[in-house]
Amino acid sequence: MNKPSIVVLGAGYGGIMTTTKLQKMIGDTEADITLVNKHDYHYQTTWLHENAAGTLHHDRTRLPIKDVVNFNKVNFVQDTVVSIDPDNKVVKLEDGELTYDYLVIGLGFESATFGIEGLGENAYMLNNINSARRIRDLIEYNFAQYNIYKEDRQDLITIVVGGAGFTGIELVGELANRIPELCQEYDVDPSKVRLLNVEAGPTALAGFDEELVEYAMNRLEEKGVEFRLNTMIKSCSENGIIVEKDGEQEEIASKNVIWAAGVRGNSIVEESGFEVGRGRVAVRQDLRTPDYDDVFVVGDCAAFFEEGAERPFPPTAQIAMQMADTAAHNLKQLVNGQDELEGFEPDIKGTVASLGHTDAIGVIFDDKKLYGRSASIMKKVIDNRYLLKLGGVGLLLKKGKLDMYH
Ligand code: FAD
Repeated sequence: MNKPSIVVLGAGYGGIMTTTKLQKMIGDTEADITLVNKHDYHYQTTWLHENAAGTLHHDRTRLPIKDVVNFNKVNFVQDTVVSIDPDNKVVKLEDGELTYDYLVIGLGFESATFGIEGLGENAYMLNNINSARRIRDLIEYNFAQYNIYKEDRQDLITIVVGGAGFTGIELVGELANRIPELCQEYDVDPSKVRLLNVEAGPTALAGFDEELVEYAMNRLEEKGVEFRLNTMIKSCSENGIIVEKDGEQEEIASKNVIWAAGVRGNSIVEESGFEVGRGRVAVRQDLRTPDYDDVFVVGDCAAFFEEGAERPFPPTAQIAMQMADTAAHNLKQLVNGQDELEGFEPDIKGTVASLGHTDAIGVIFDDKKLYGRSASIMKKVIDNRYLLKLGGVGLLLKKGKLDMYH
């Protein structure tokens, strides 16, 4: 009998964890496992704000897939997925196609621009290593240019971050730390630099504990962040943005507009005909799509609703990794001819948002609040735990954040 083939799309948190689990759980004689990813490296999306700000080199954030996936057990295909045809069980790649018996979609997120005029074309998005590297270089280049001009080019040293959610706040936290270094390097007067965080809602970090939000905003304001709450970005051009608050419009000139205010599931999923909301498939409890018994979705392409819930779990790395456990277990069952699949049971261990360097806020074990250095240490513990899970002690020593106090 032919062995079934399992194809995993995307080597983000969900995809790579599913693959490393499958390579342990499924023997060579039971199934063929293929992992497809655009690059030959995996990266930790949750560190991208540090790469974009220039406070951490991107080589710390990425790691070769061959270091954690056993290529004797898994067929790795470095290629870009173009589309999926679930009726014929075919995945189209830029350089060919693959057929499958079981598919795991883990293609991650992309920025959602909510139809804001000019945003997609002119703002910089923080999605992957390439985009993070570009933001770092853009800001550095604009600081380098500032003293070239005779006139005061404030737009070159004005940085706008759209969105005060998790990603936006983590990014402004890192930028606030990086700016003094940039000023020193490029002879820019620090008092002239502006770092704005524009948010349409009434608060930063909506949904977070109020006391923690207040702490975060105060700390960031002390470091020079200007919050613009209840403020909509109406449009974006190559010269900056137009914002609106209480019906009044204002133009903010900036050559450094970064959009960190919204994500959706990878559009390949929607374009392939799966039914989605904000690009995410409302998966069944066992993480399969509603219409296909052989297609699982993990990570940011999946919207998981607990039984009876009106809203899905927010897309996070934590959820993506936990989904990998369930998907791998259920694939093992199917490969072994068992149709009893387990339901996904999210176990939220806590949420910690970095405010830069040794500062952070967080809630762990349901209601324990953390501030400052203790939260920052917890953030590093979470990051290191992931590396340990993915590649053991060797990977932790190579890529981990082992200096807890810096
Ligand atoms: P991703 O990690 O997005 O990976 C997708 C993979 O698919 C990538 O390897 C990509 O190269 C590949 N891919 C994409 N398209 C194709 C294609 N067409 N062909 C082939 N390969 C493709 N979550 C937390 O839980 N905690 C945090 O502290 C946190 N901080 C964050 C900070 C930032 C700056 C950002 C941007 C996000 C943060 N998140 C955090 C959210 C978290 O990063 C995402 O929820 C998580 O990355 C989703 O994982 P994923 O497996 O779905 O996909």
